[in-house]
Amino acid sequence: MYWDQKIETMERGELEKLQLARLGRTLERAKQSEHYGRLFGQMKLATEKIRTLADVQELPLTTKDDLRELWPYGFLACSRDELVRMHSSSGTTGRATVIFHTASDIAAWTDLLARSMYMTGMRRSDVFQNMMTYGLFTGGLGFHYGAEKIGALVIPAGAGNSKRQIQLIRDFETTAVHIIPSYALHLSTVFEETGCDPRRDTKLRLAFLGAEPHSEKMRRKIEAFYGFKAFNSYGLSEMNGPGMAFECPEQNGMHIWEDNFIVEIIDPETLKPLPDGEEGELVTTTLLREGMPILRYRTKDLTRIIPGPCPCGRTHRRIERIKGRTDDMMILKGVNIFPIQIEKKLMEVPGVGTNFLIILDREGYNDQMTVKVEVRKEYFGGDLSQLETLRRRIVEELKSDILISPKVDLVEPDSLPKSEGKAKRVIDNRKD
Ligand code: ADP
Ligand code: ZN
Repeated sequence: MYWDQKIETMERGELEKLQLARLGRTLERAKQSEHYGRLFGQMKLATEKIRTLADVQELPLTTKDDLRELWPYGFLACSRDELVRMHSSSGTTGRATVIFHTASDIAAWTDLLARSMYMTGMRRSDVFQNMMTYGLFTGGLGFHYGAEKIGALVIPAGAGNSKRQIQLIRDFETTAVHIIPSYALHLSTVFEETGCDPRRDTKLRLAFLGAEPHSEKMRRKIEAFYGFKAFNSYGLSEMNGPGMAFECPEQNGMHIWEDNFIVEIIDPETLKPLPDGEEGELVTTTLLREGMPILRYRTKDLTRIIPGPCPCGRTHRRIERIKGRTDDMMILKGVNIFPIQIEKKLMEVPGVGTNFLIILDREGYNDQMTVKVEVRKEYFGGDLSQLETLRRRIVEELKSDILISPKVDLVEPDSLPKSEGKAKRVIDNRKD
């Protein structure tokens, strides 16, 4: 049941002691980097004064812009000879940031992924198909190494090429997959086209869904189609990538591996810490990174810590499903809206297909939201009033949550742009 029972169920006091000891070593290393060396000097920060976890707030926050400014080597805390791997972020919000790893960094990361997948029930008897982009993106090699460490047979399929994915799943009796949720929905349409029913014709039993925000409804829709159990996997390249926080069999929040990271939730406006249970921005510090330690990284991801212990017995705290990035928030007519709110509502409406796109326009002083929604093919070519009823229902559903009436356009399956990586949900045509 556990990959490393001692660490996973460590009593909180012990775990915090371990964190502090590791933090001490991390600060010593961080000082060696150009960025933190200079910053600690300017702040006159005596790292030996950091004696409790509460003192972490004395440390400087780090942002993606800091990483971009000192690109690429300004955060290196070791000689380049010690590095064995480079990865980068996907560049969703600008120039991609790069992260360098030593051999021991890779070993620690691999261990976290093995621990995470093992927790969901993956074993050496599984056949694991990794449908994520390999290369610089962390979702490929990260999971690959973790699955090999468990001893599963790994099929490094990479992203895209849906027909081949299905062929591999069938020919090699794949039991577990790692897949982006929006792609899982798209792939379901290809399964349907080829007449293959994954529940009947495949051995799929486990899935790891990650890399982009998705709602509980979307997870359930994916699970229902494929007949597997799908676990939420969260991470960001600055904190290795996947393997940072992962759902356990309780499927109620993701355990964030606190032996490797210090977790804080802050108010993104005031930057003040928030208590467990309150929603804010996740801030994390690496504890085992040698090559490129990062302190108090502002992830820009909004979540909260779920208070209380998890029935599974693991003591590492859980974060709730990510609501979105602070940058994803749309402000329309004074209302704050996240794409995931739209997605959640759409997933509740039978007849809605597998993709949608939000377009924001400004007419005069008026902001307008258009939601283009793919609907199932049975709605086209027949009775148009059925389509209109569905359209009205979607407008009502969305209005009940986001409080404004969007324009809703229903479109045919597969007509909206799709991506092999993270889905692009919003096009903002408004000029400031
Ligand atoms: P980029 O920041 O350029 O997208 P990364 O590949 O490092 O590059 O992506 C990390 C980000 O992806 C996270 O900060 C988060 O916004 C998003 N993400 C990753 N996994 C999840 C998940 N399970 N749920 C929601 N968002 C996720
Ligand atoms: Zn648990």
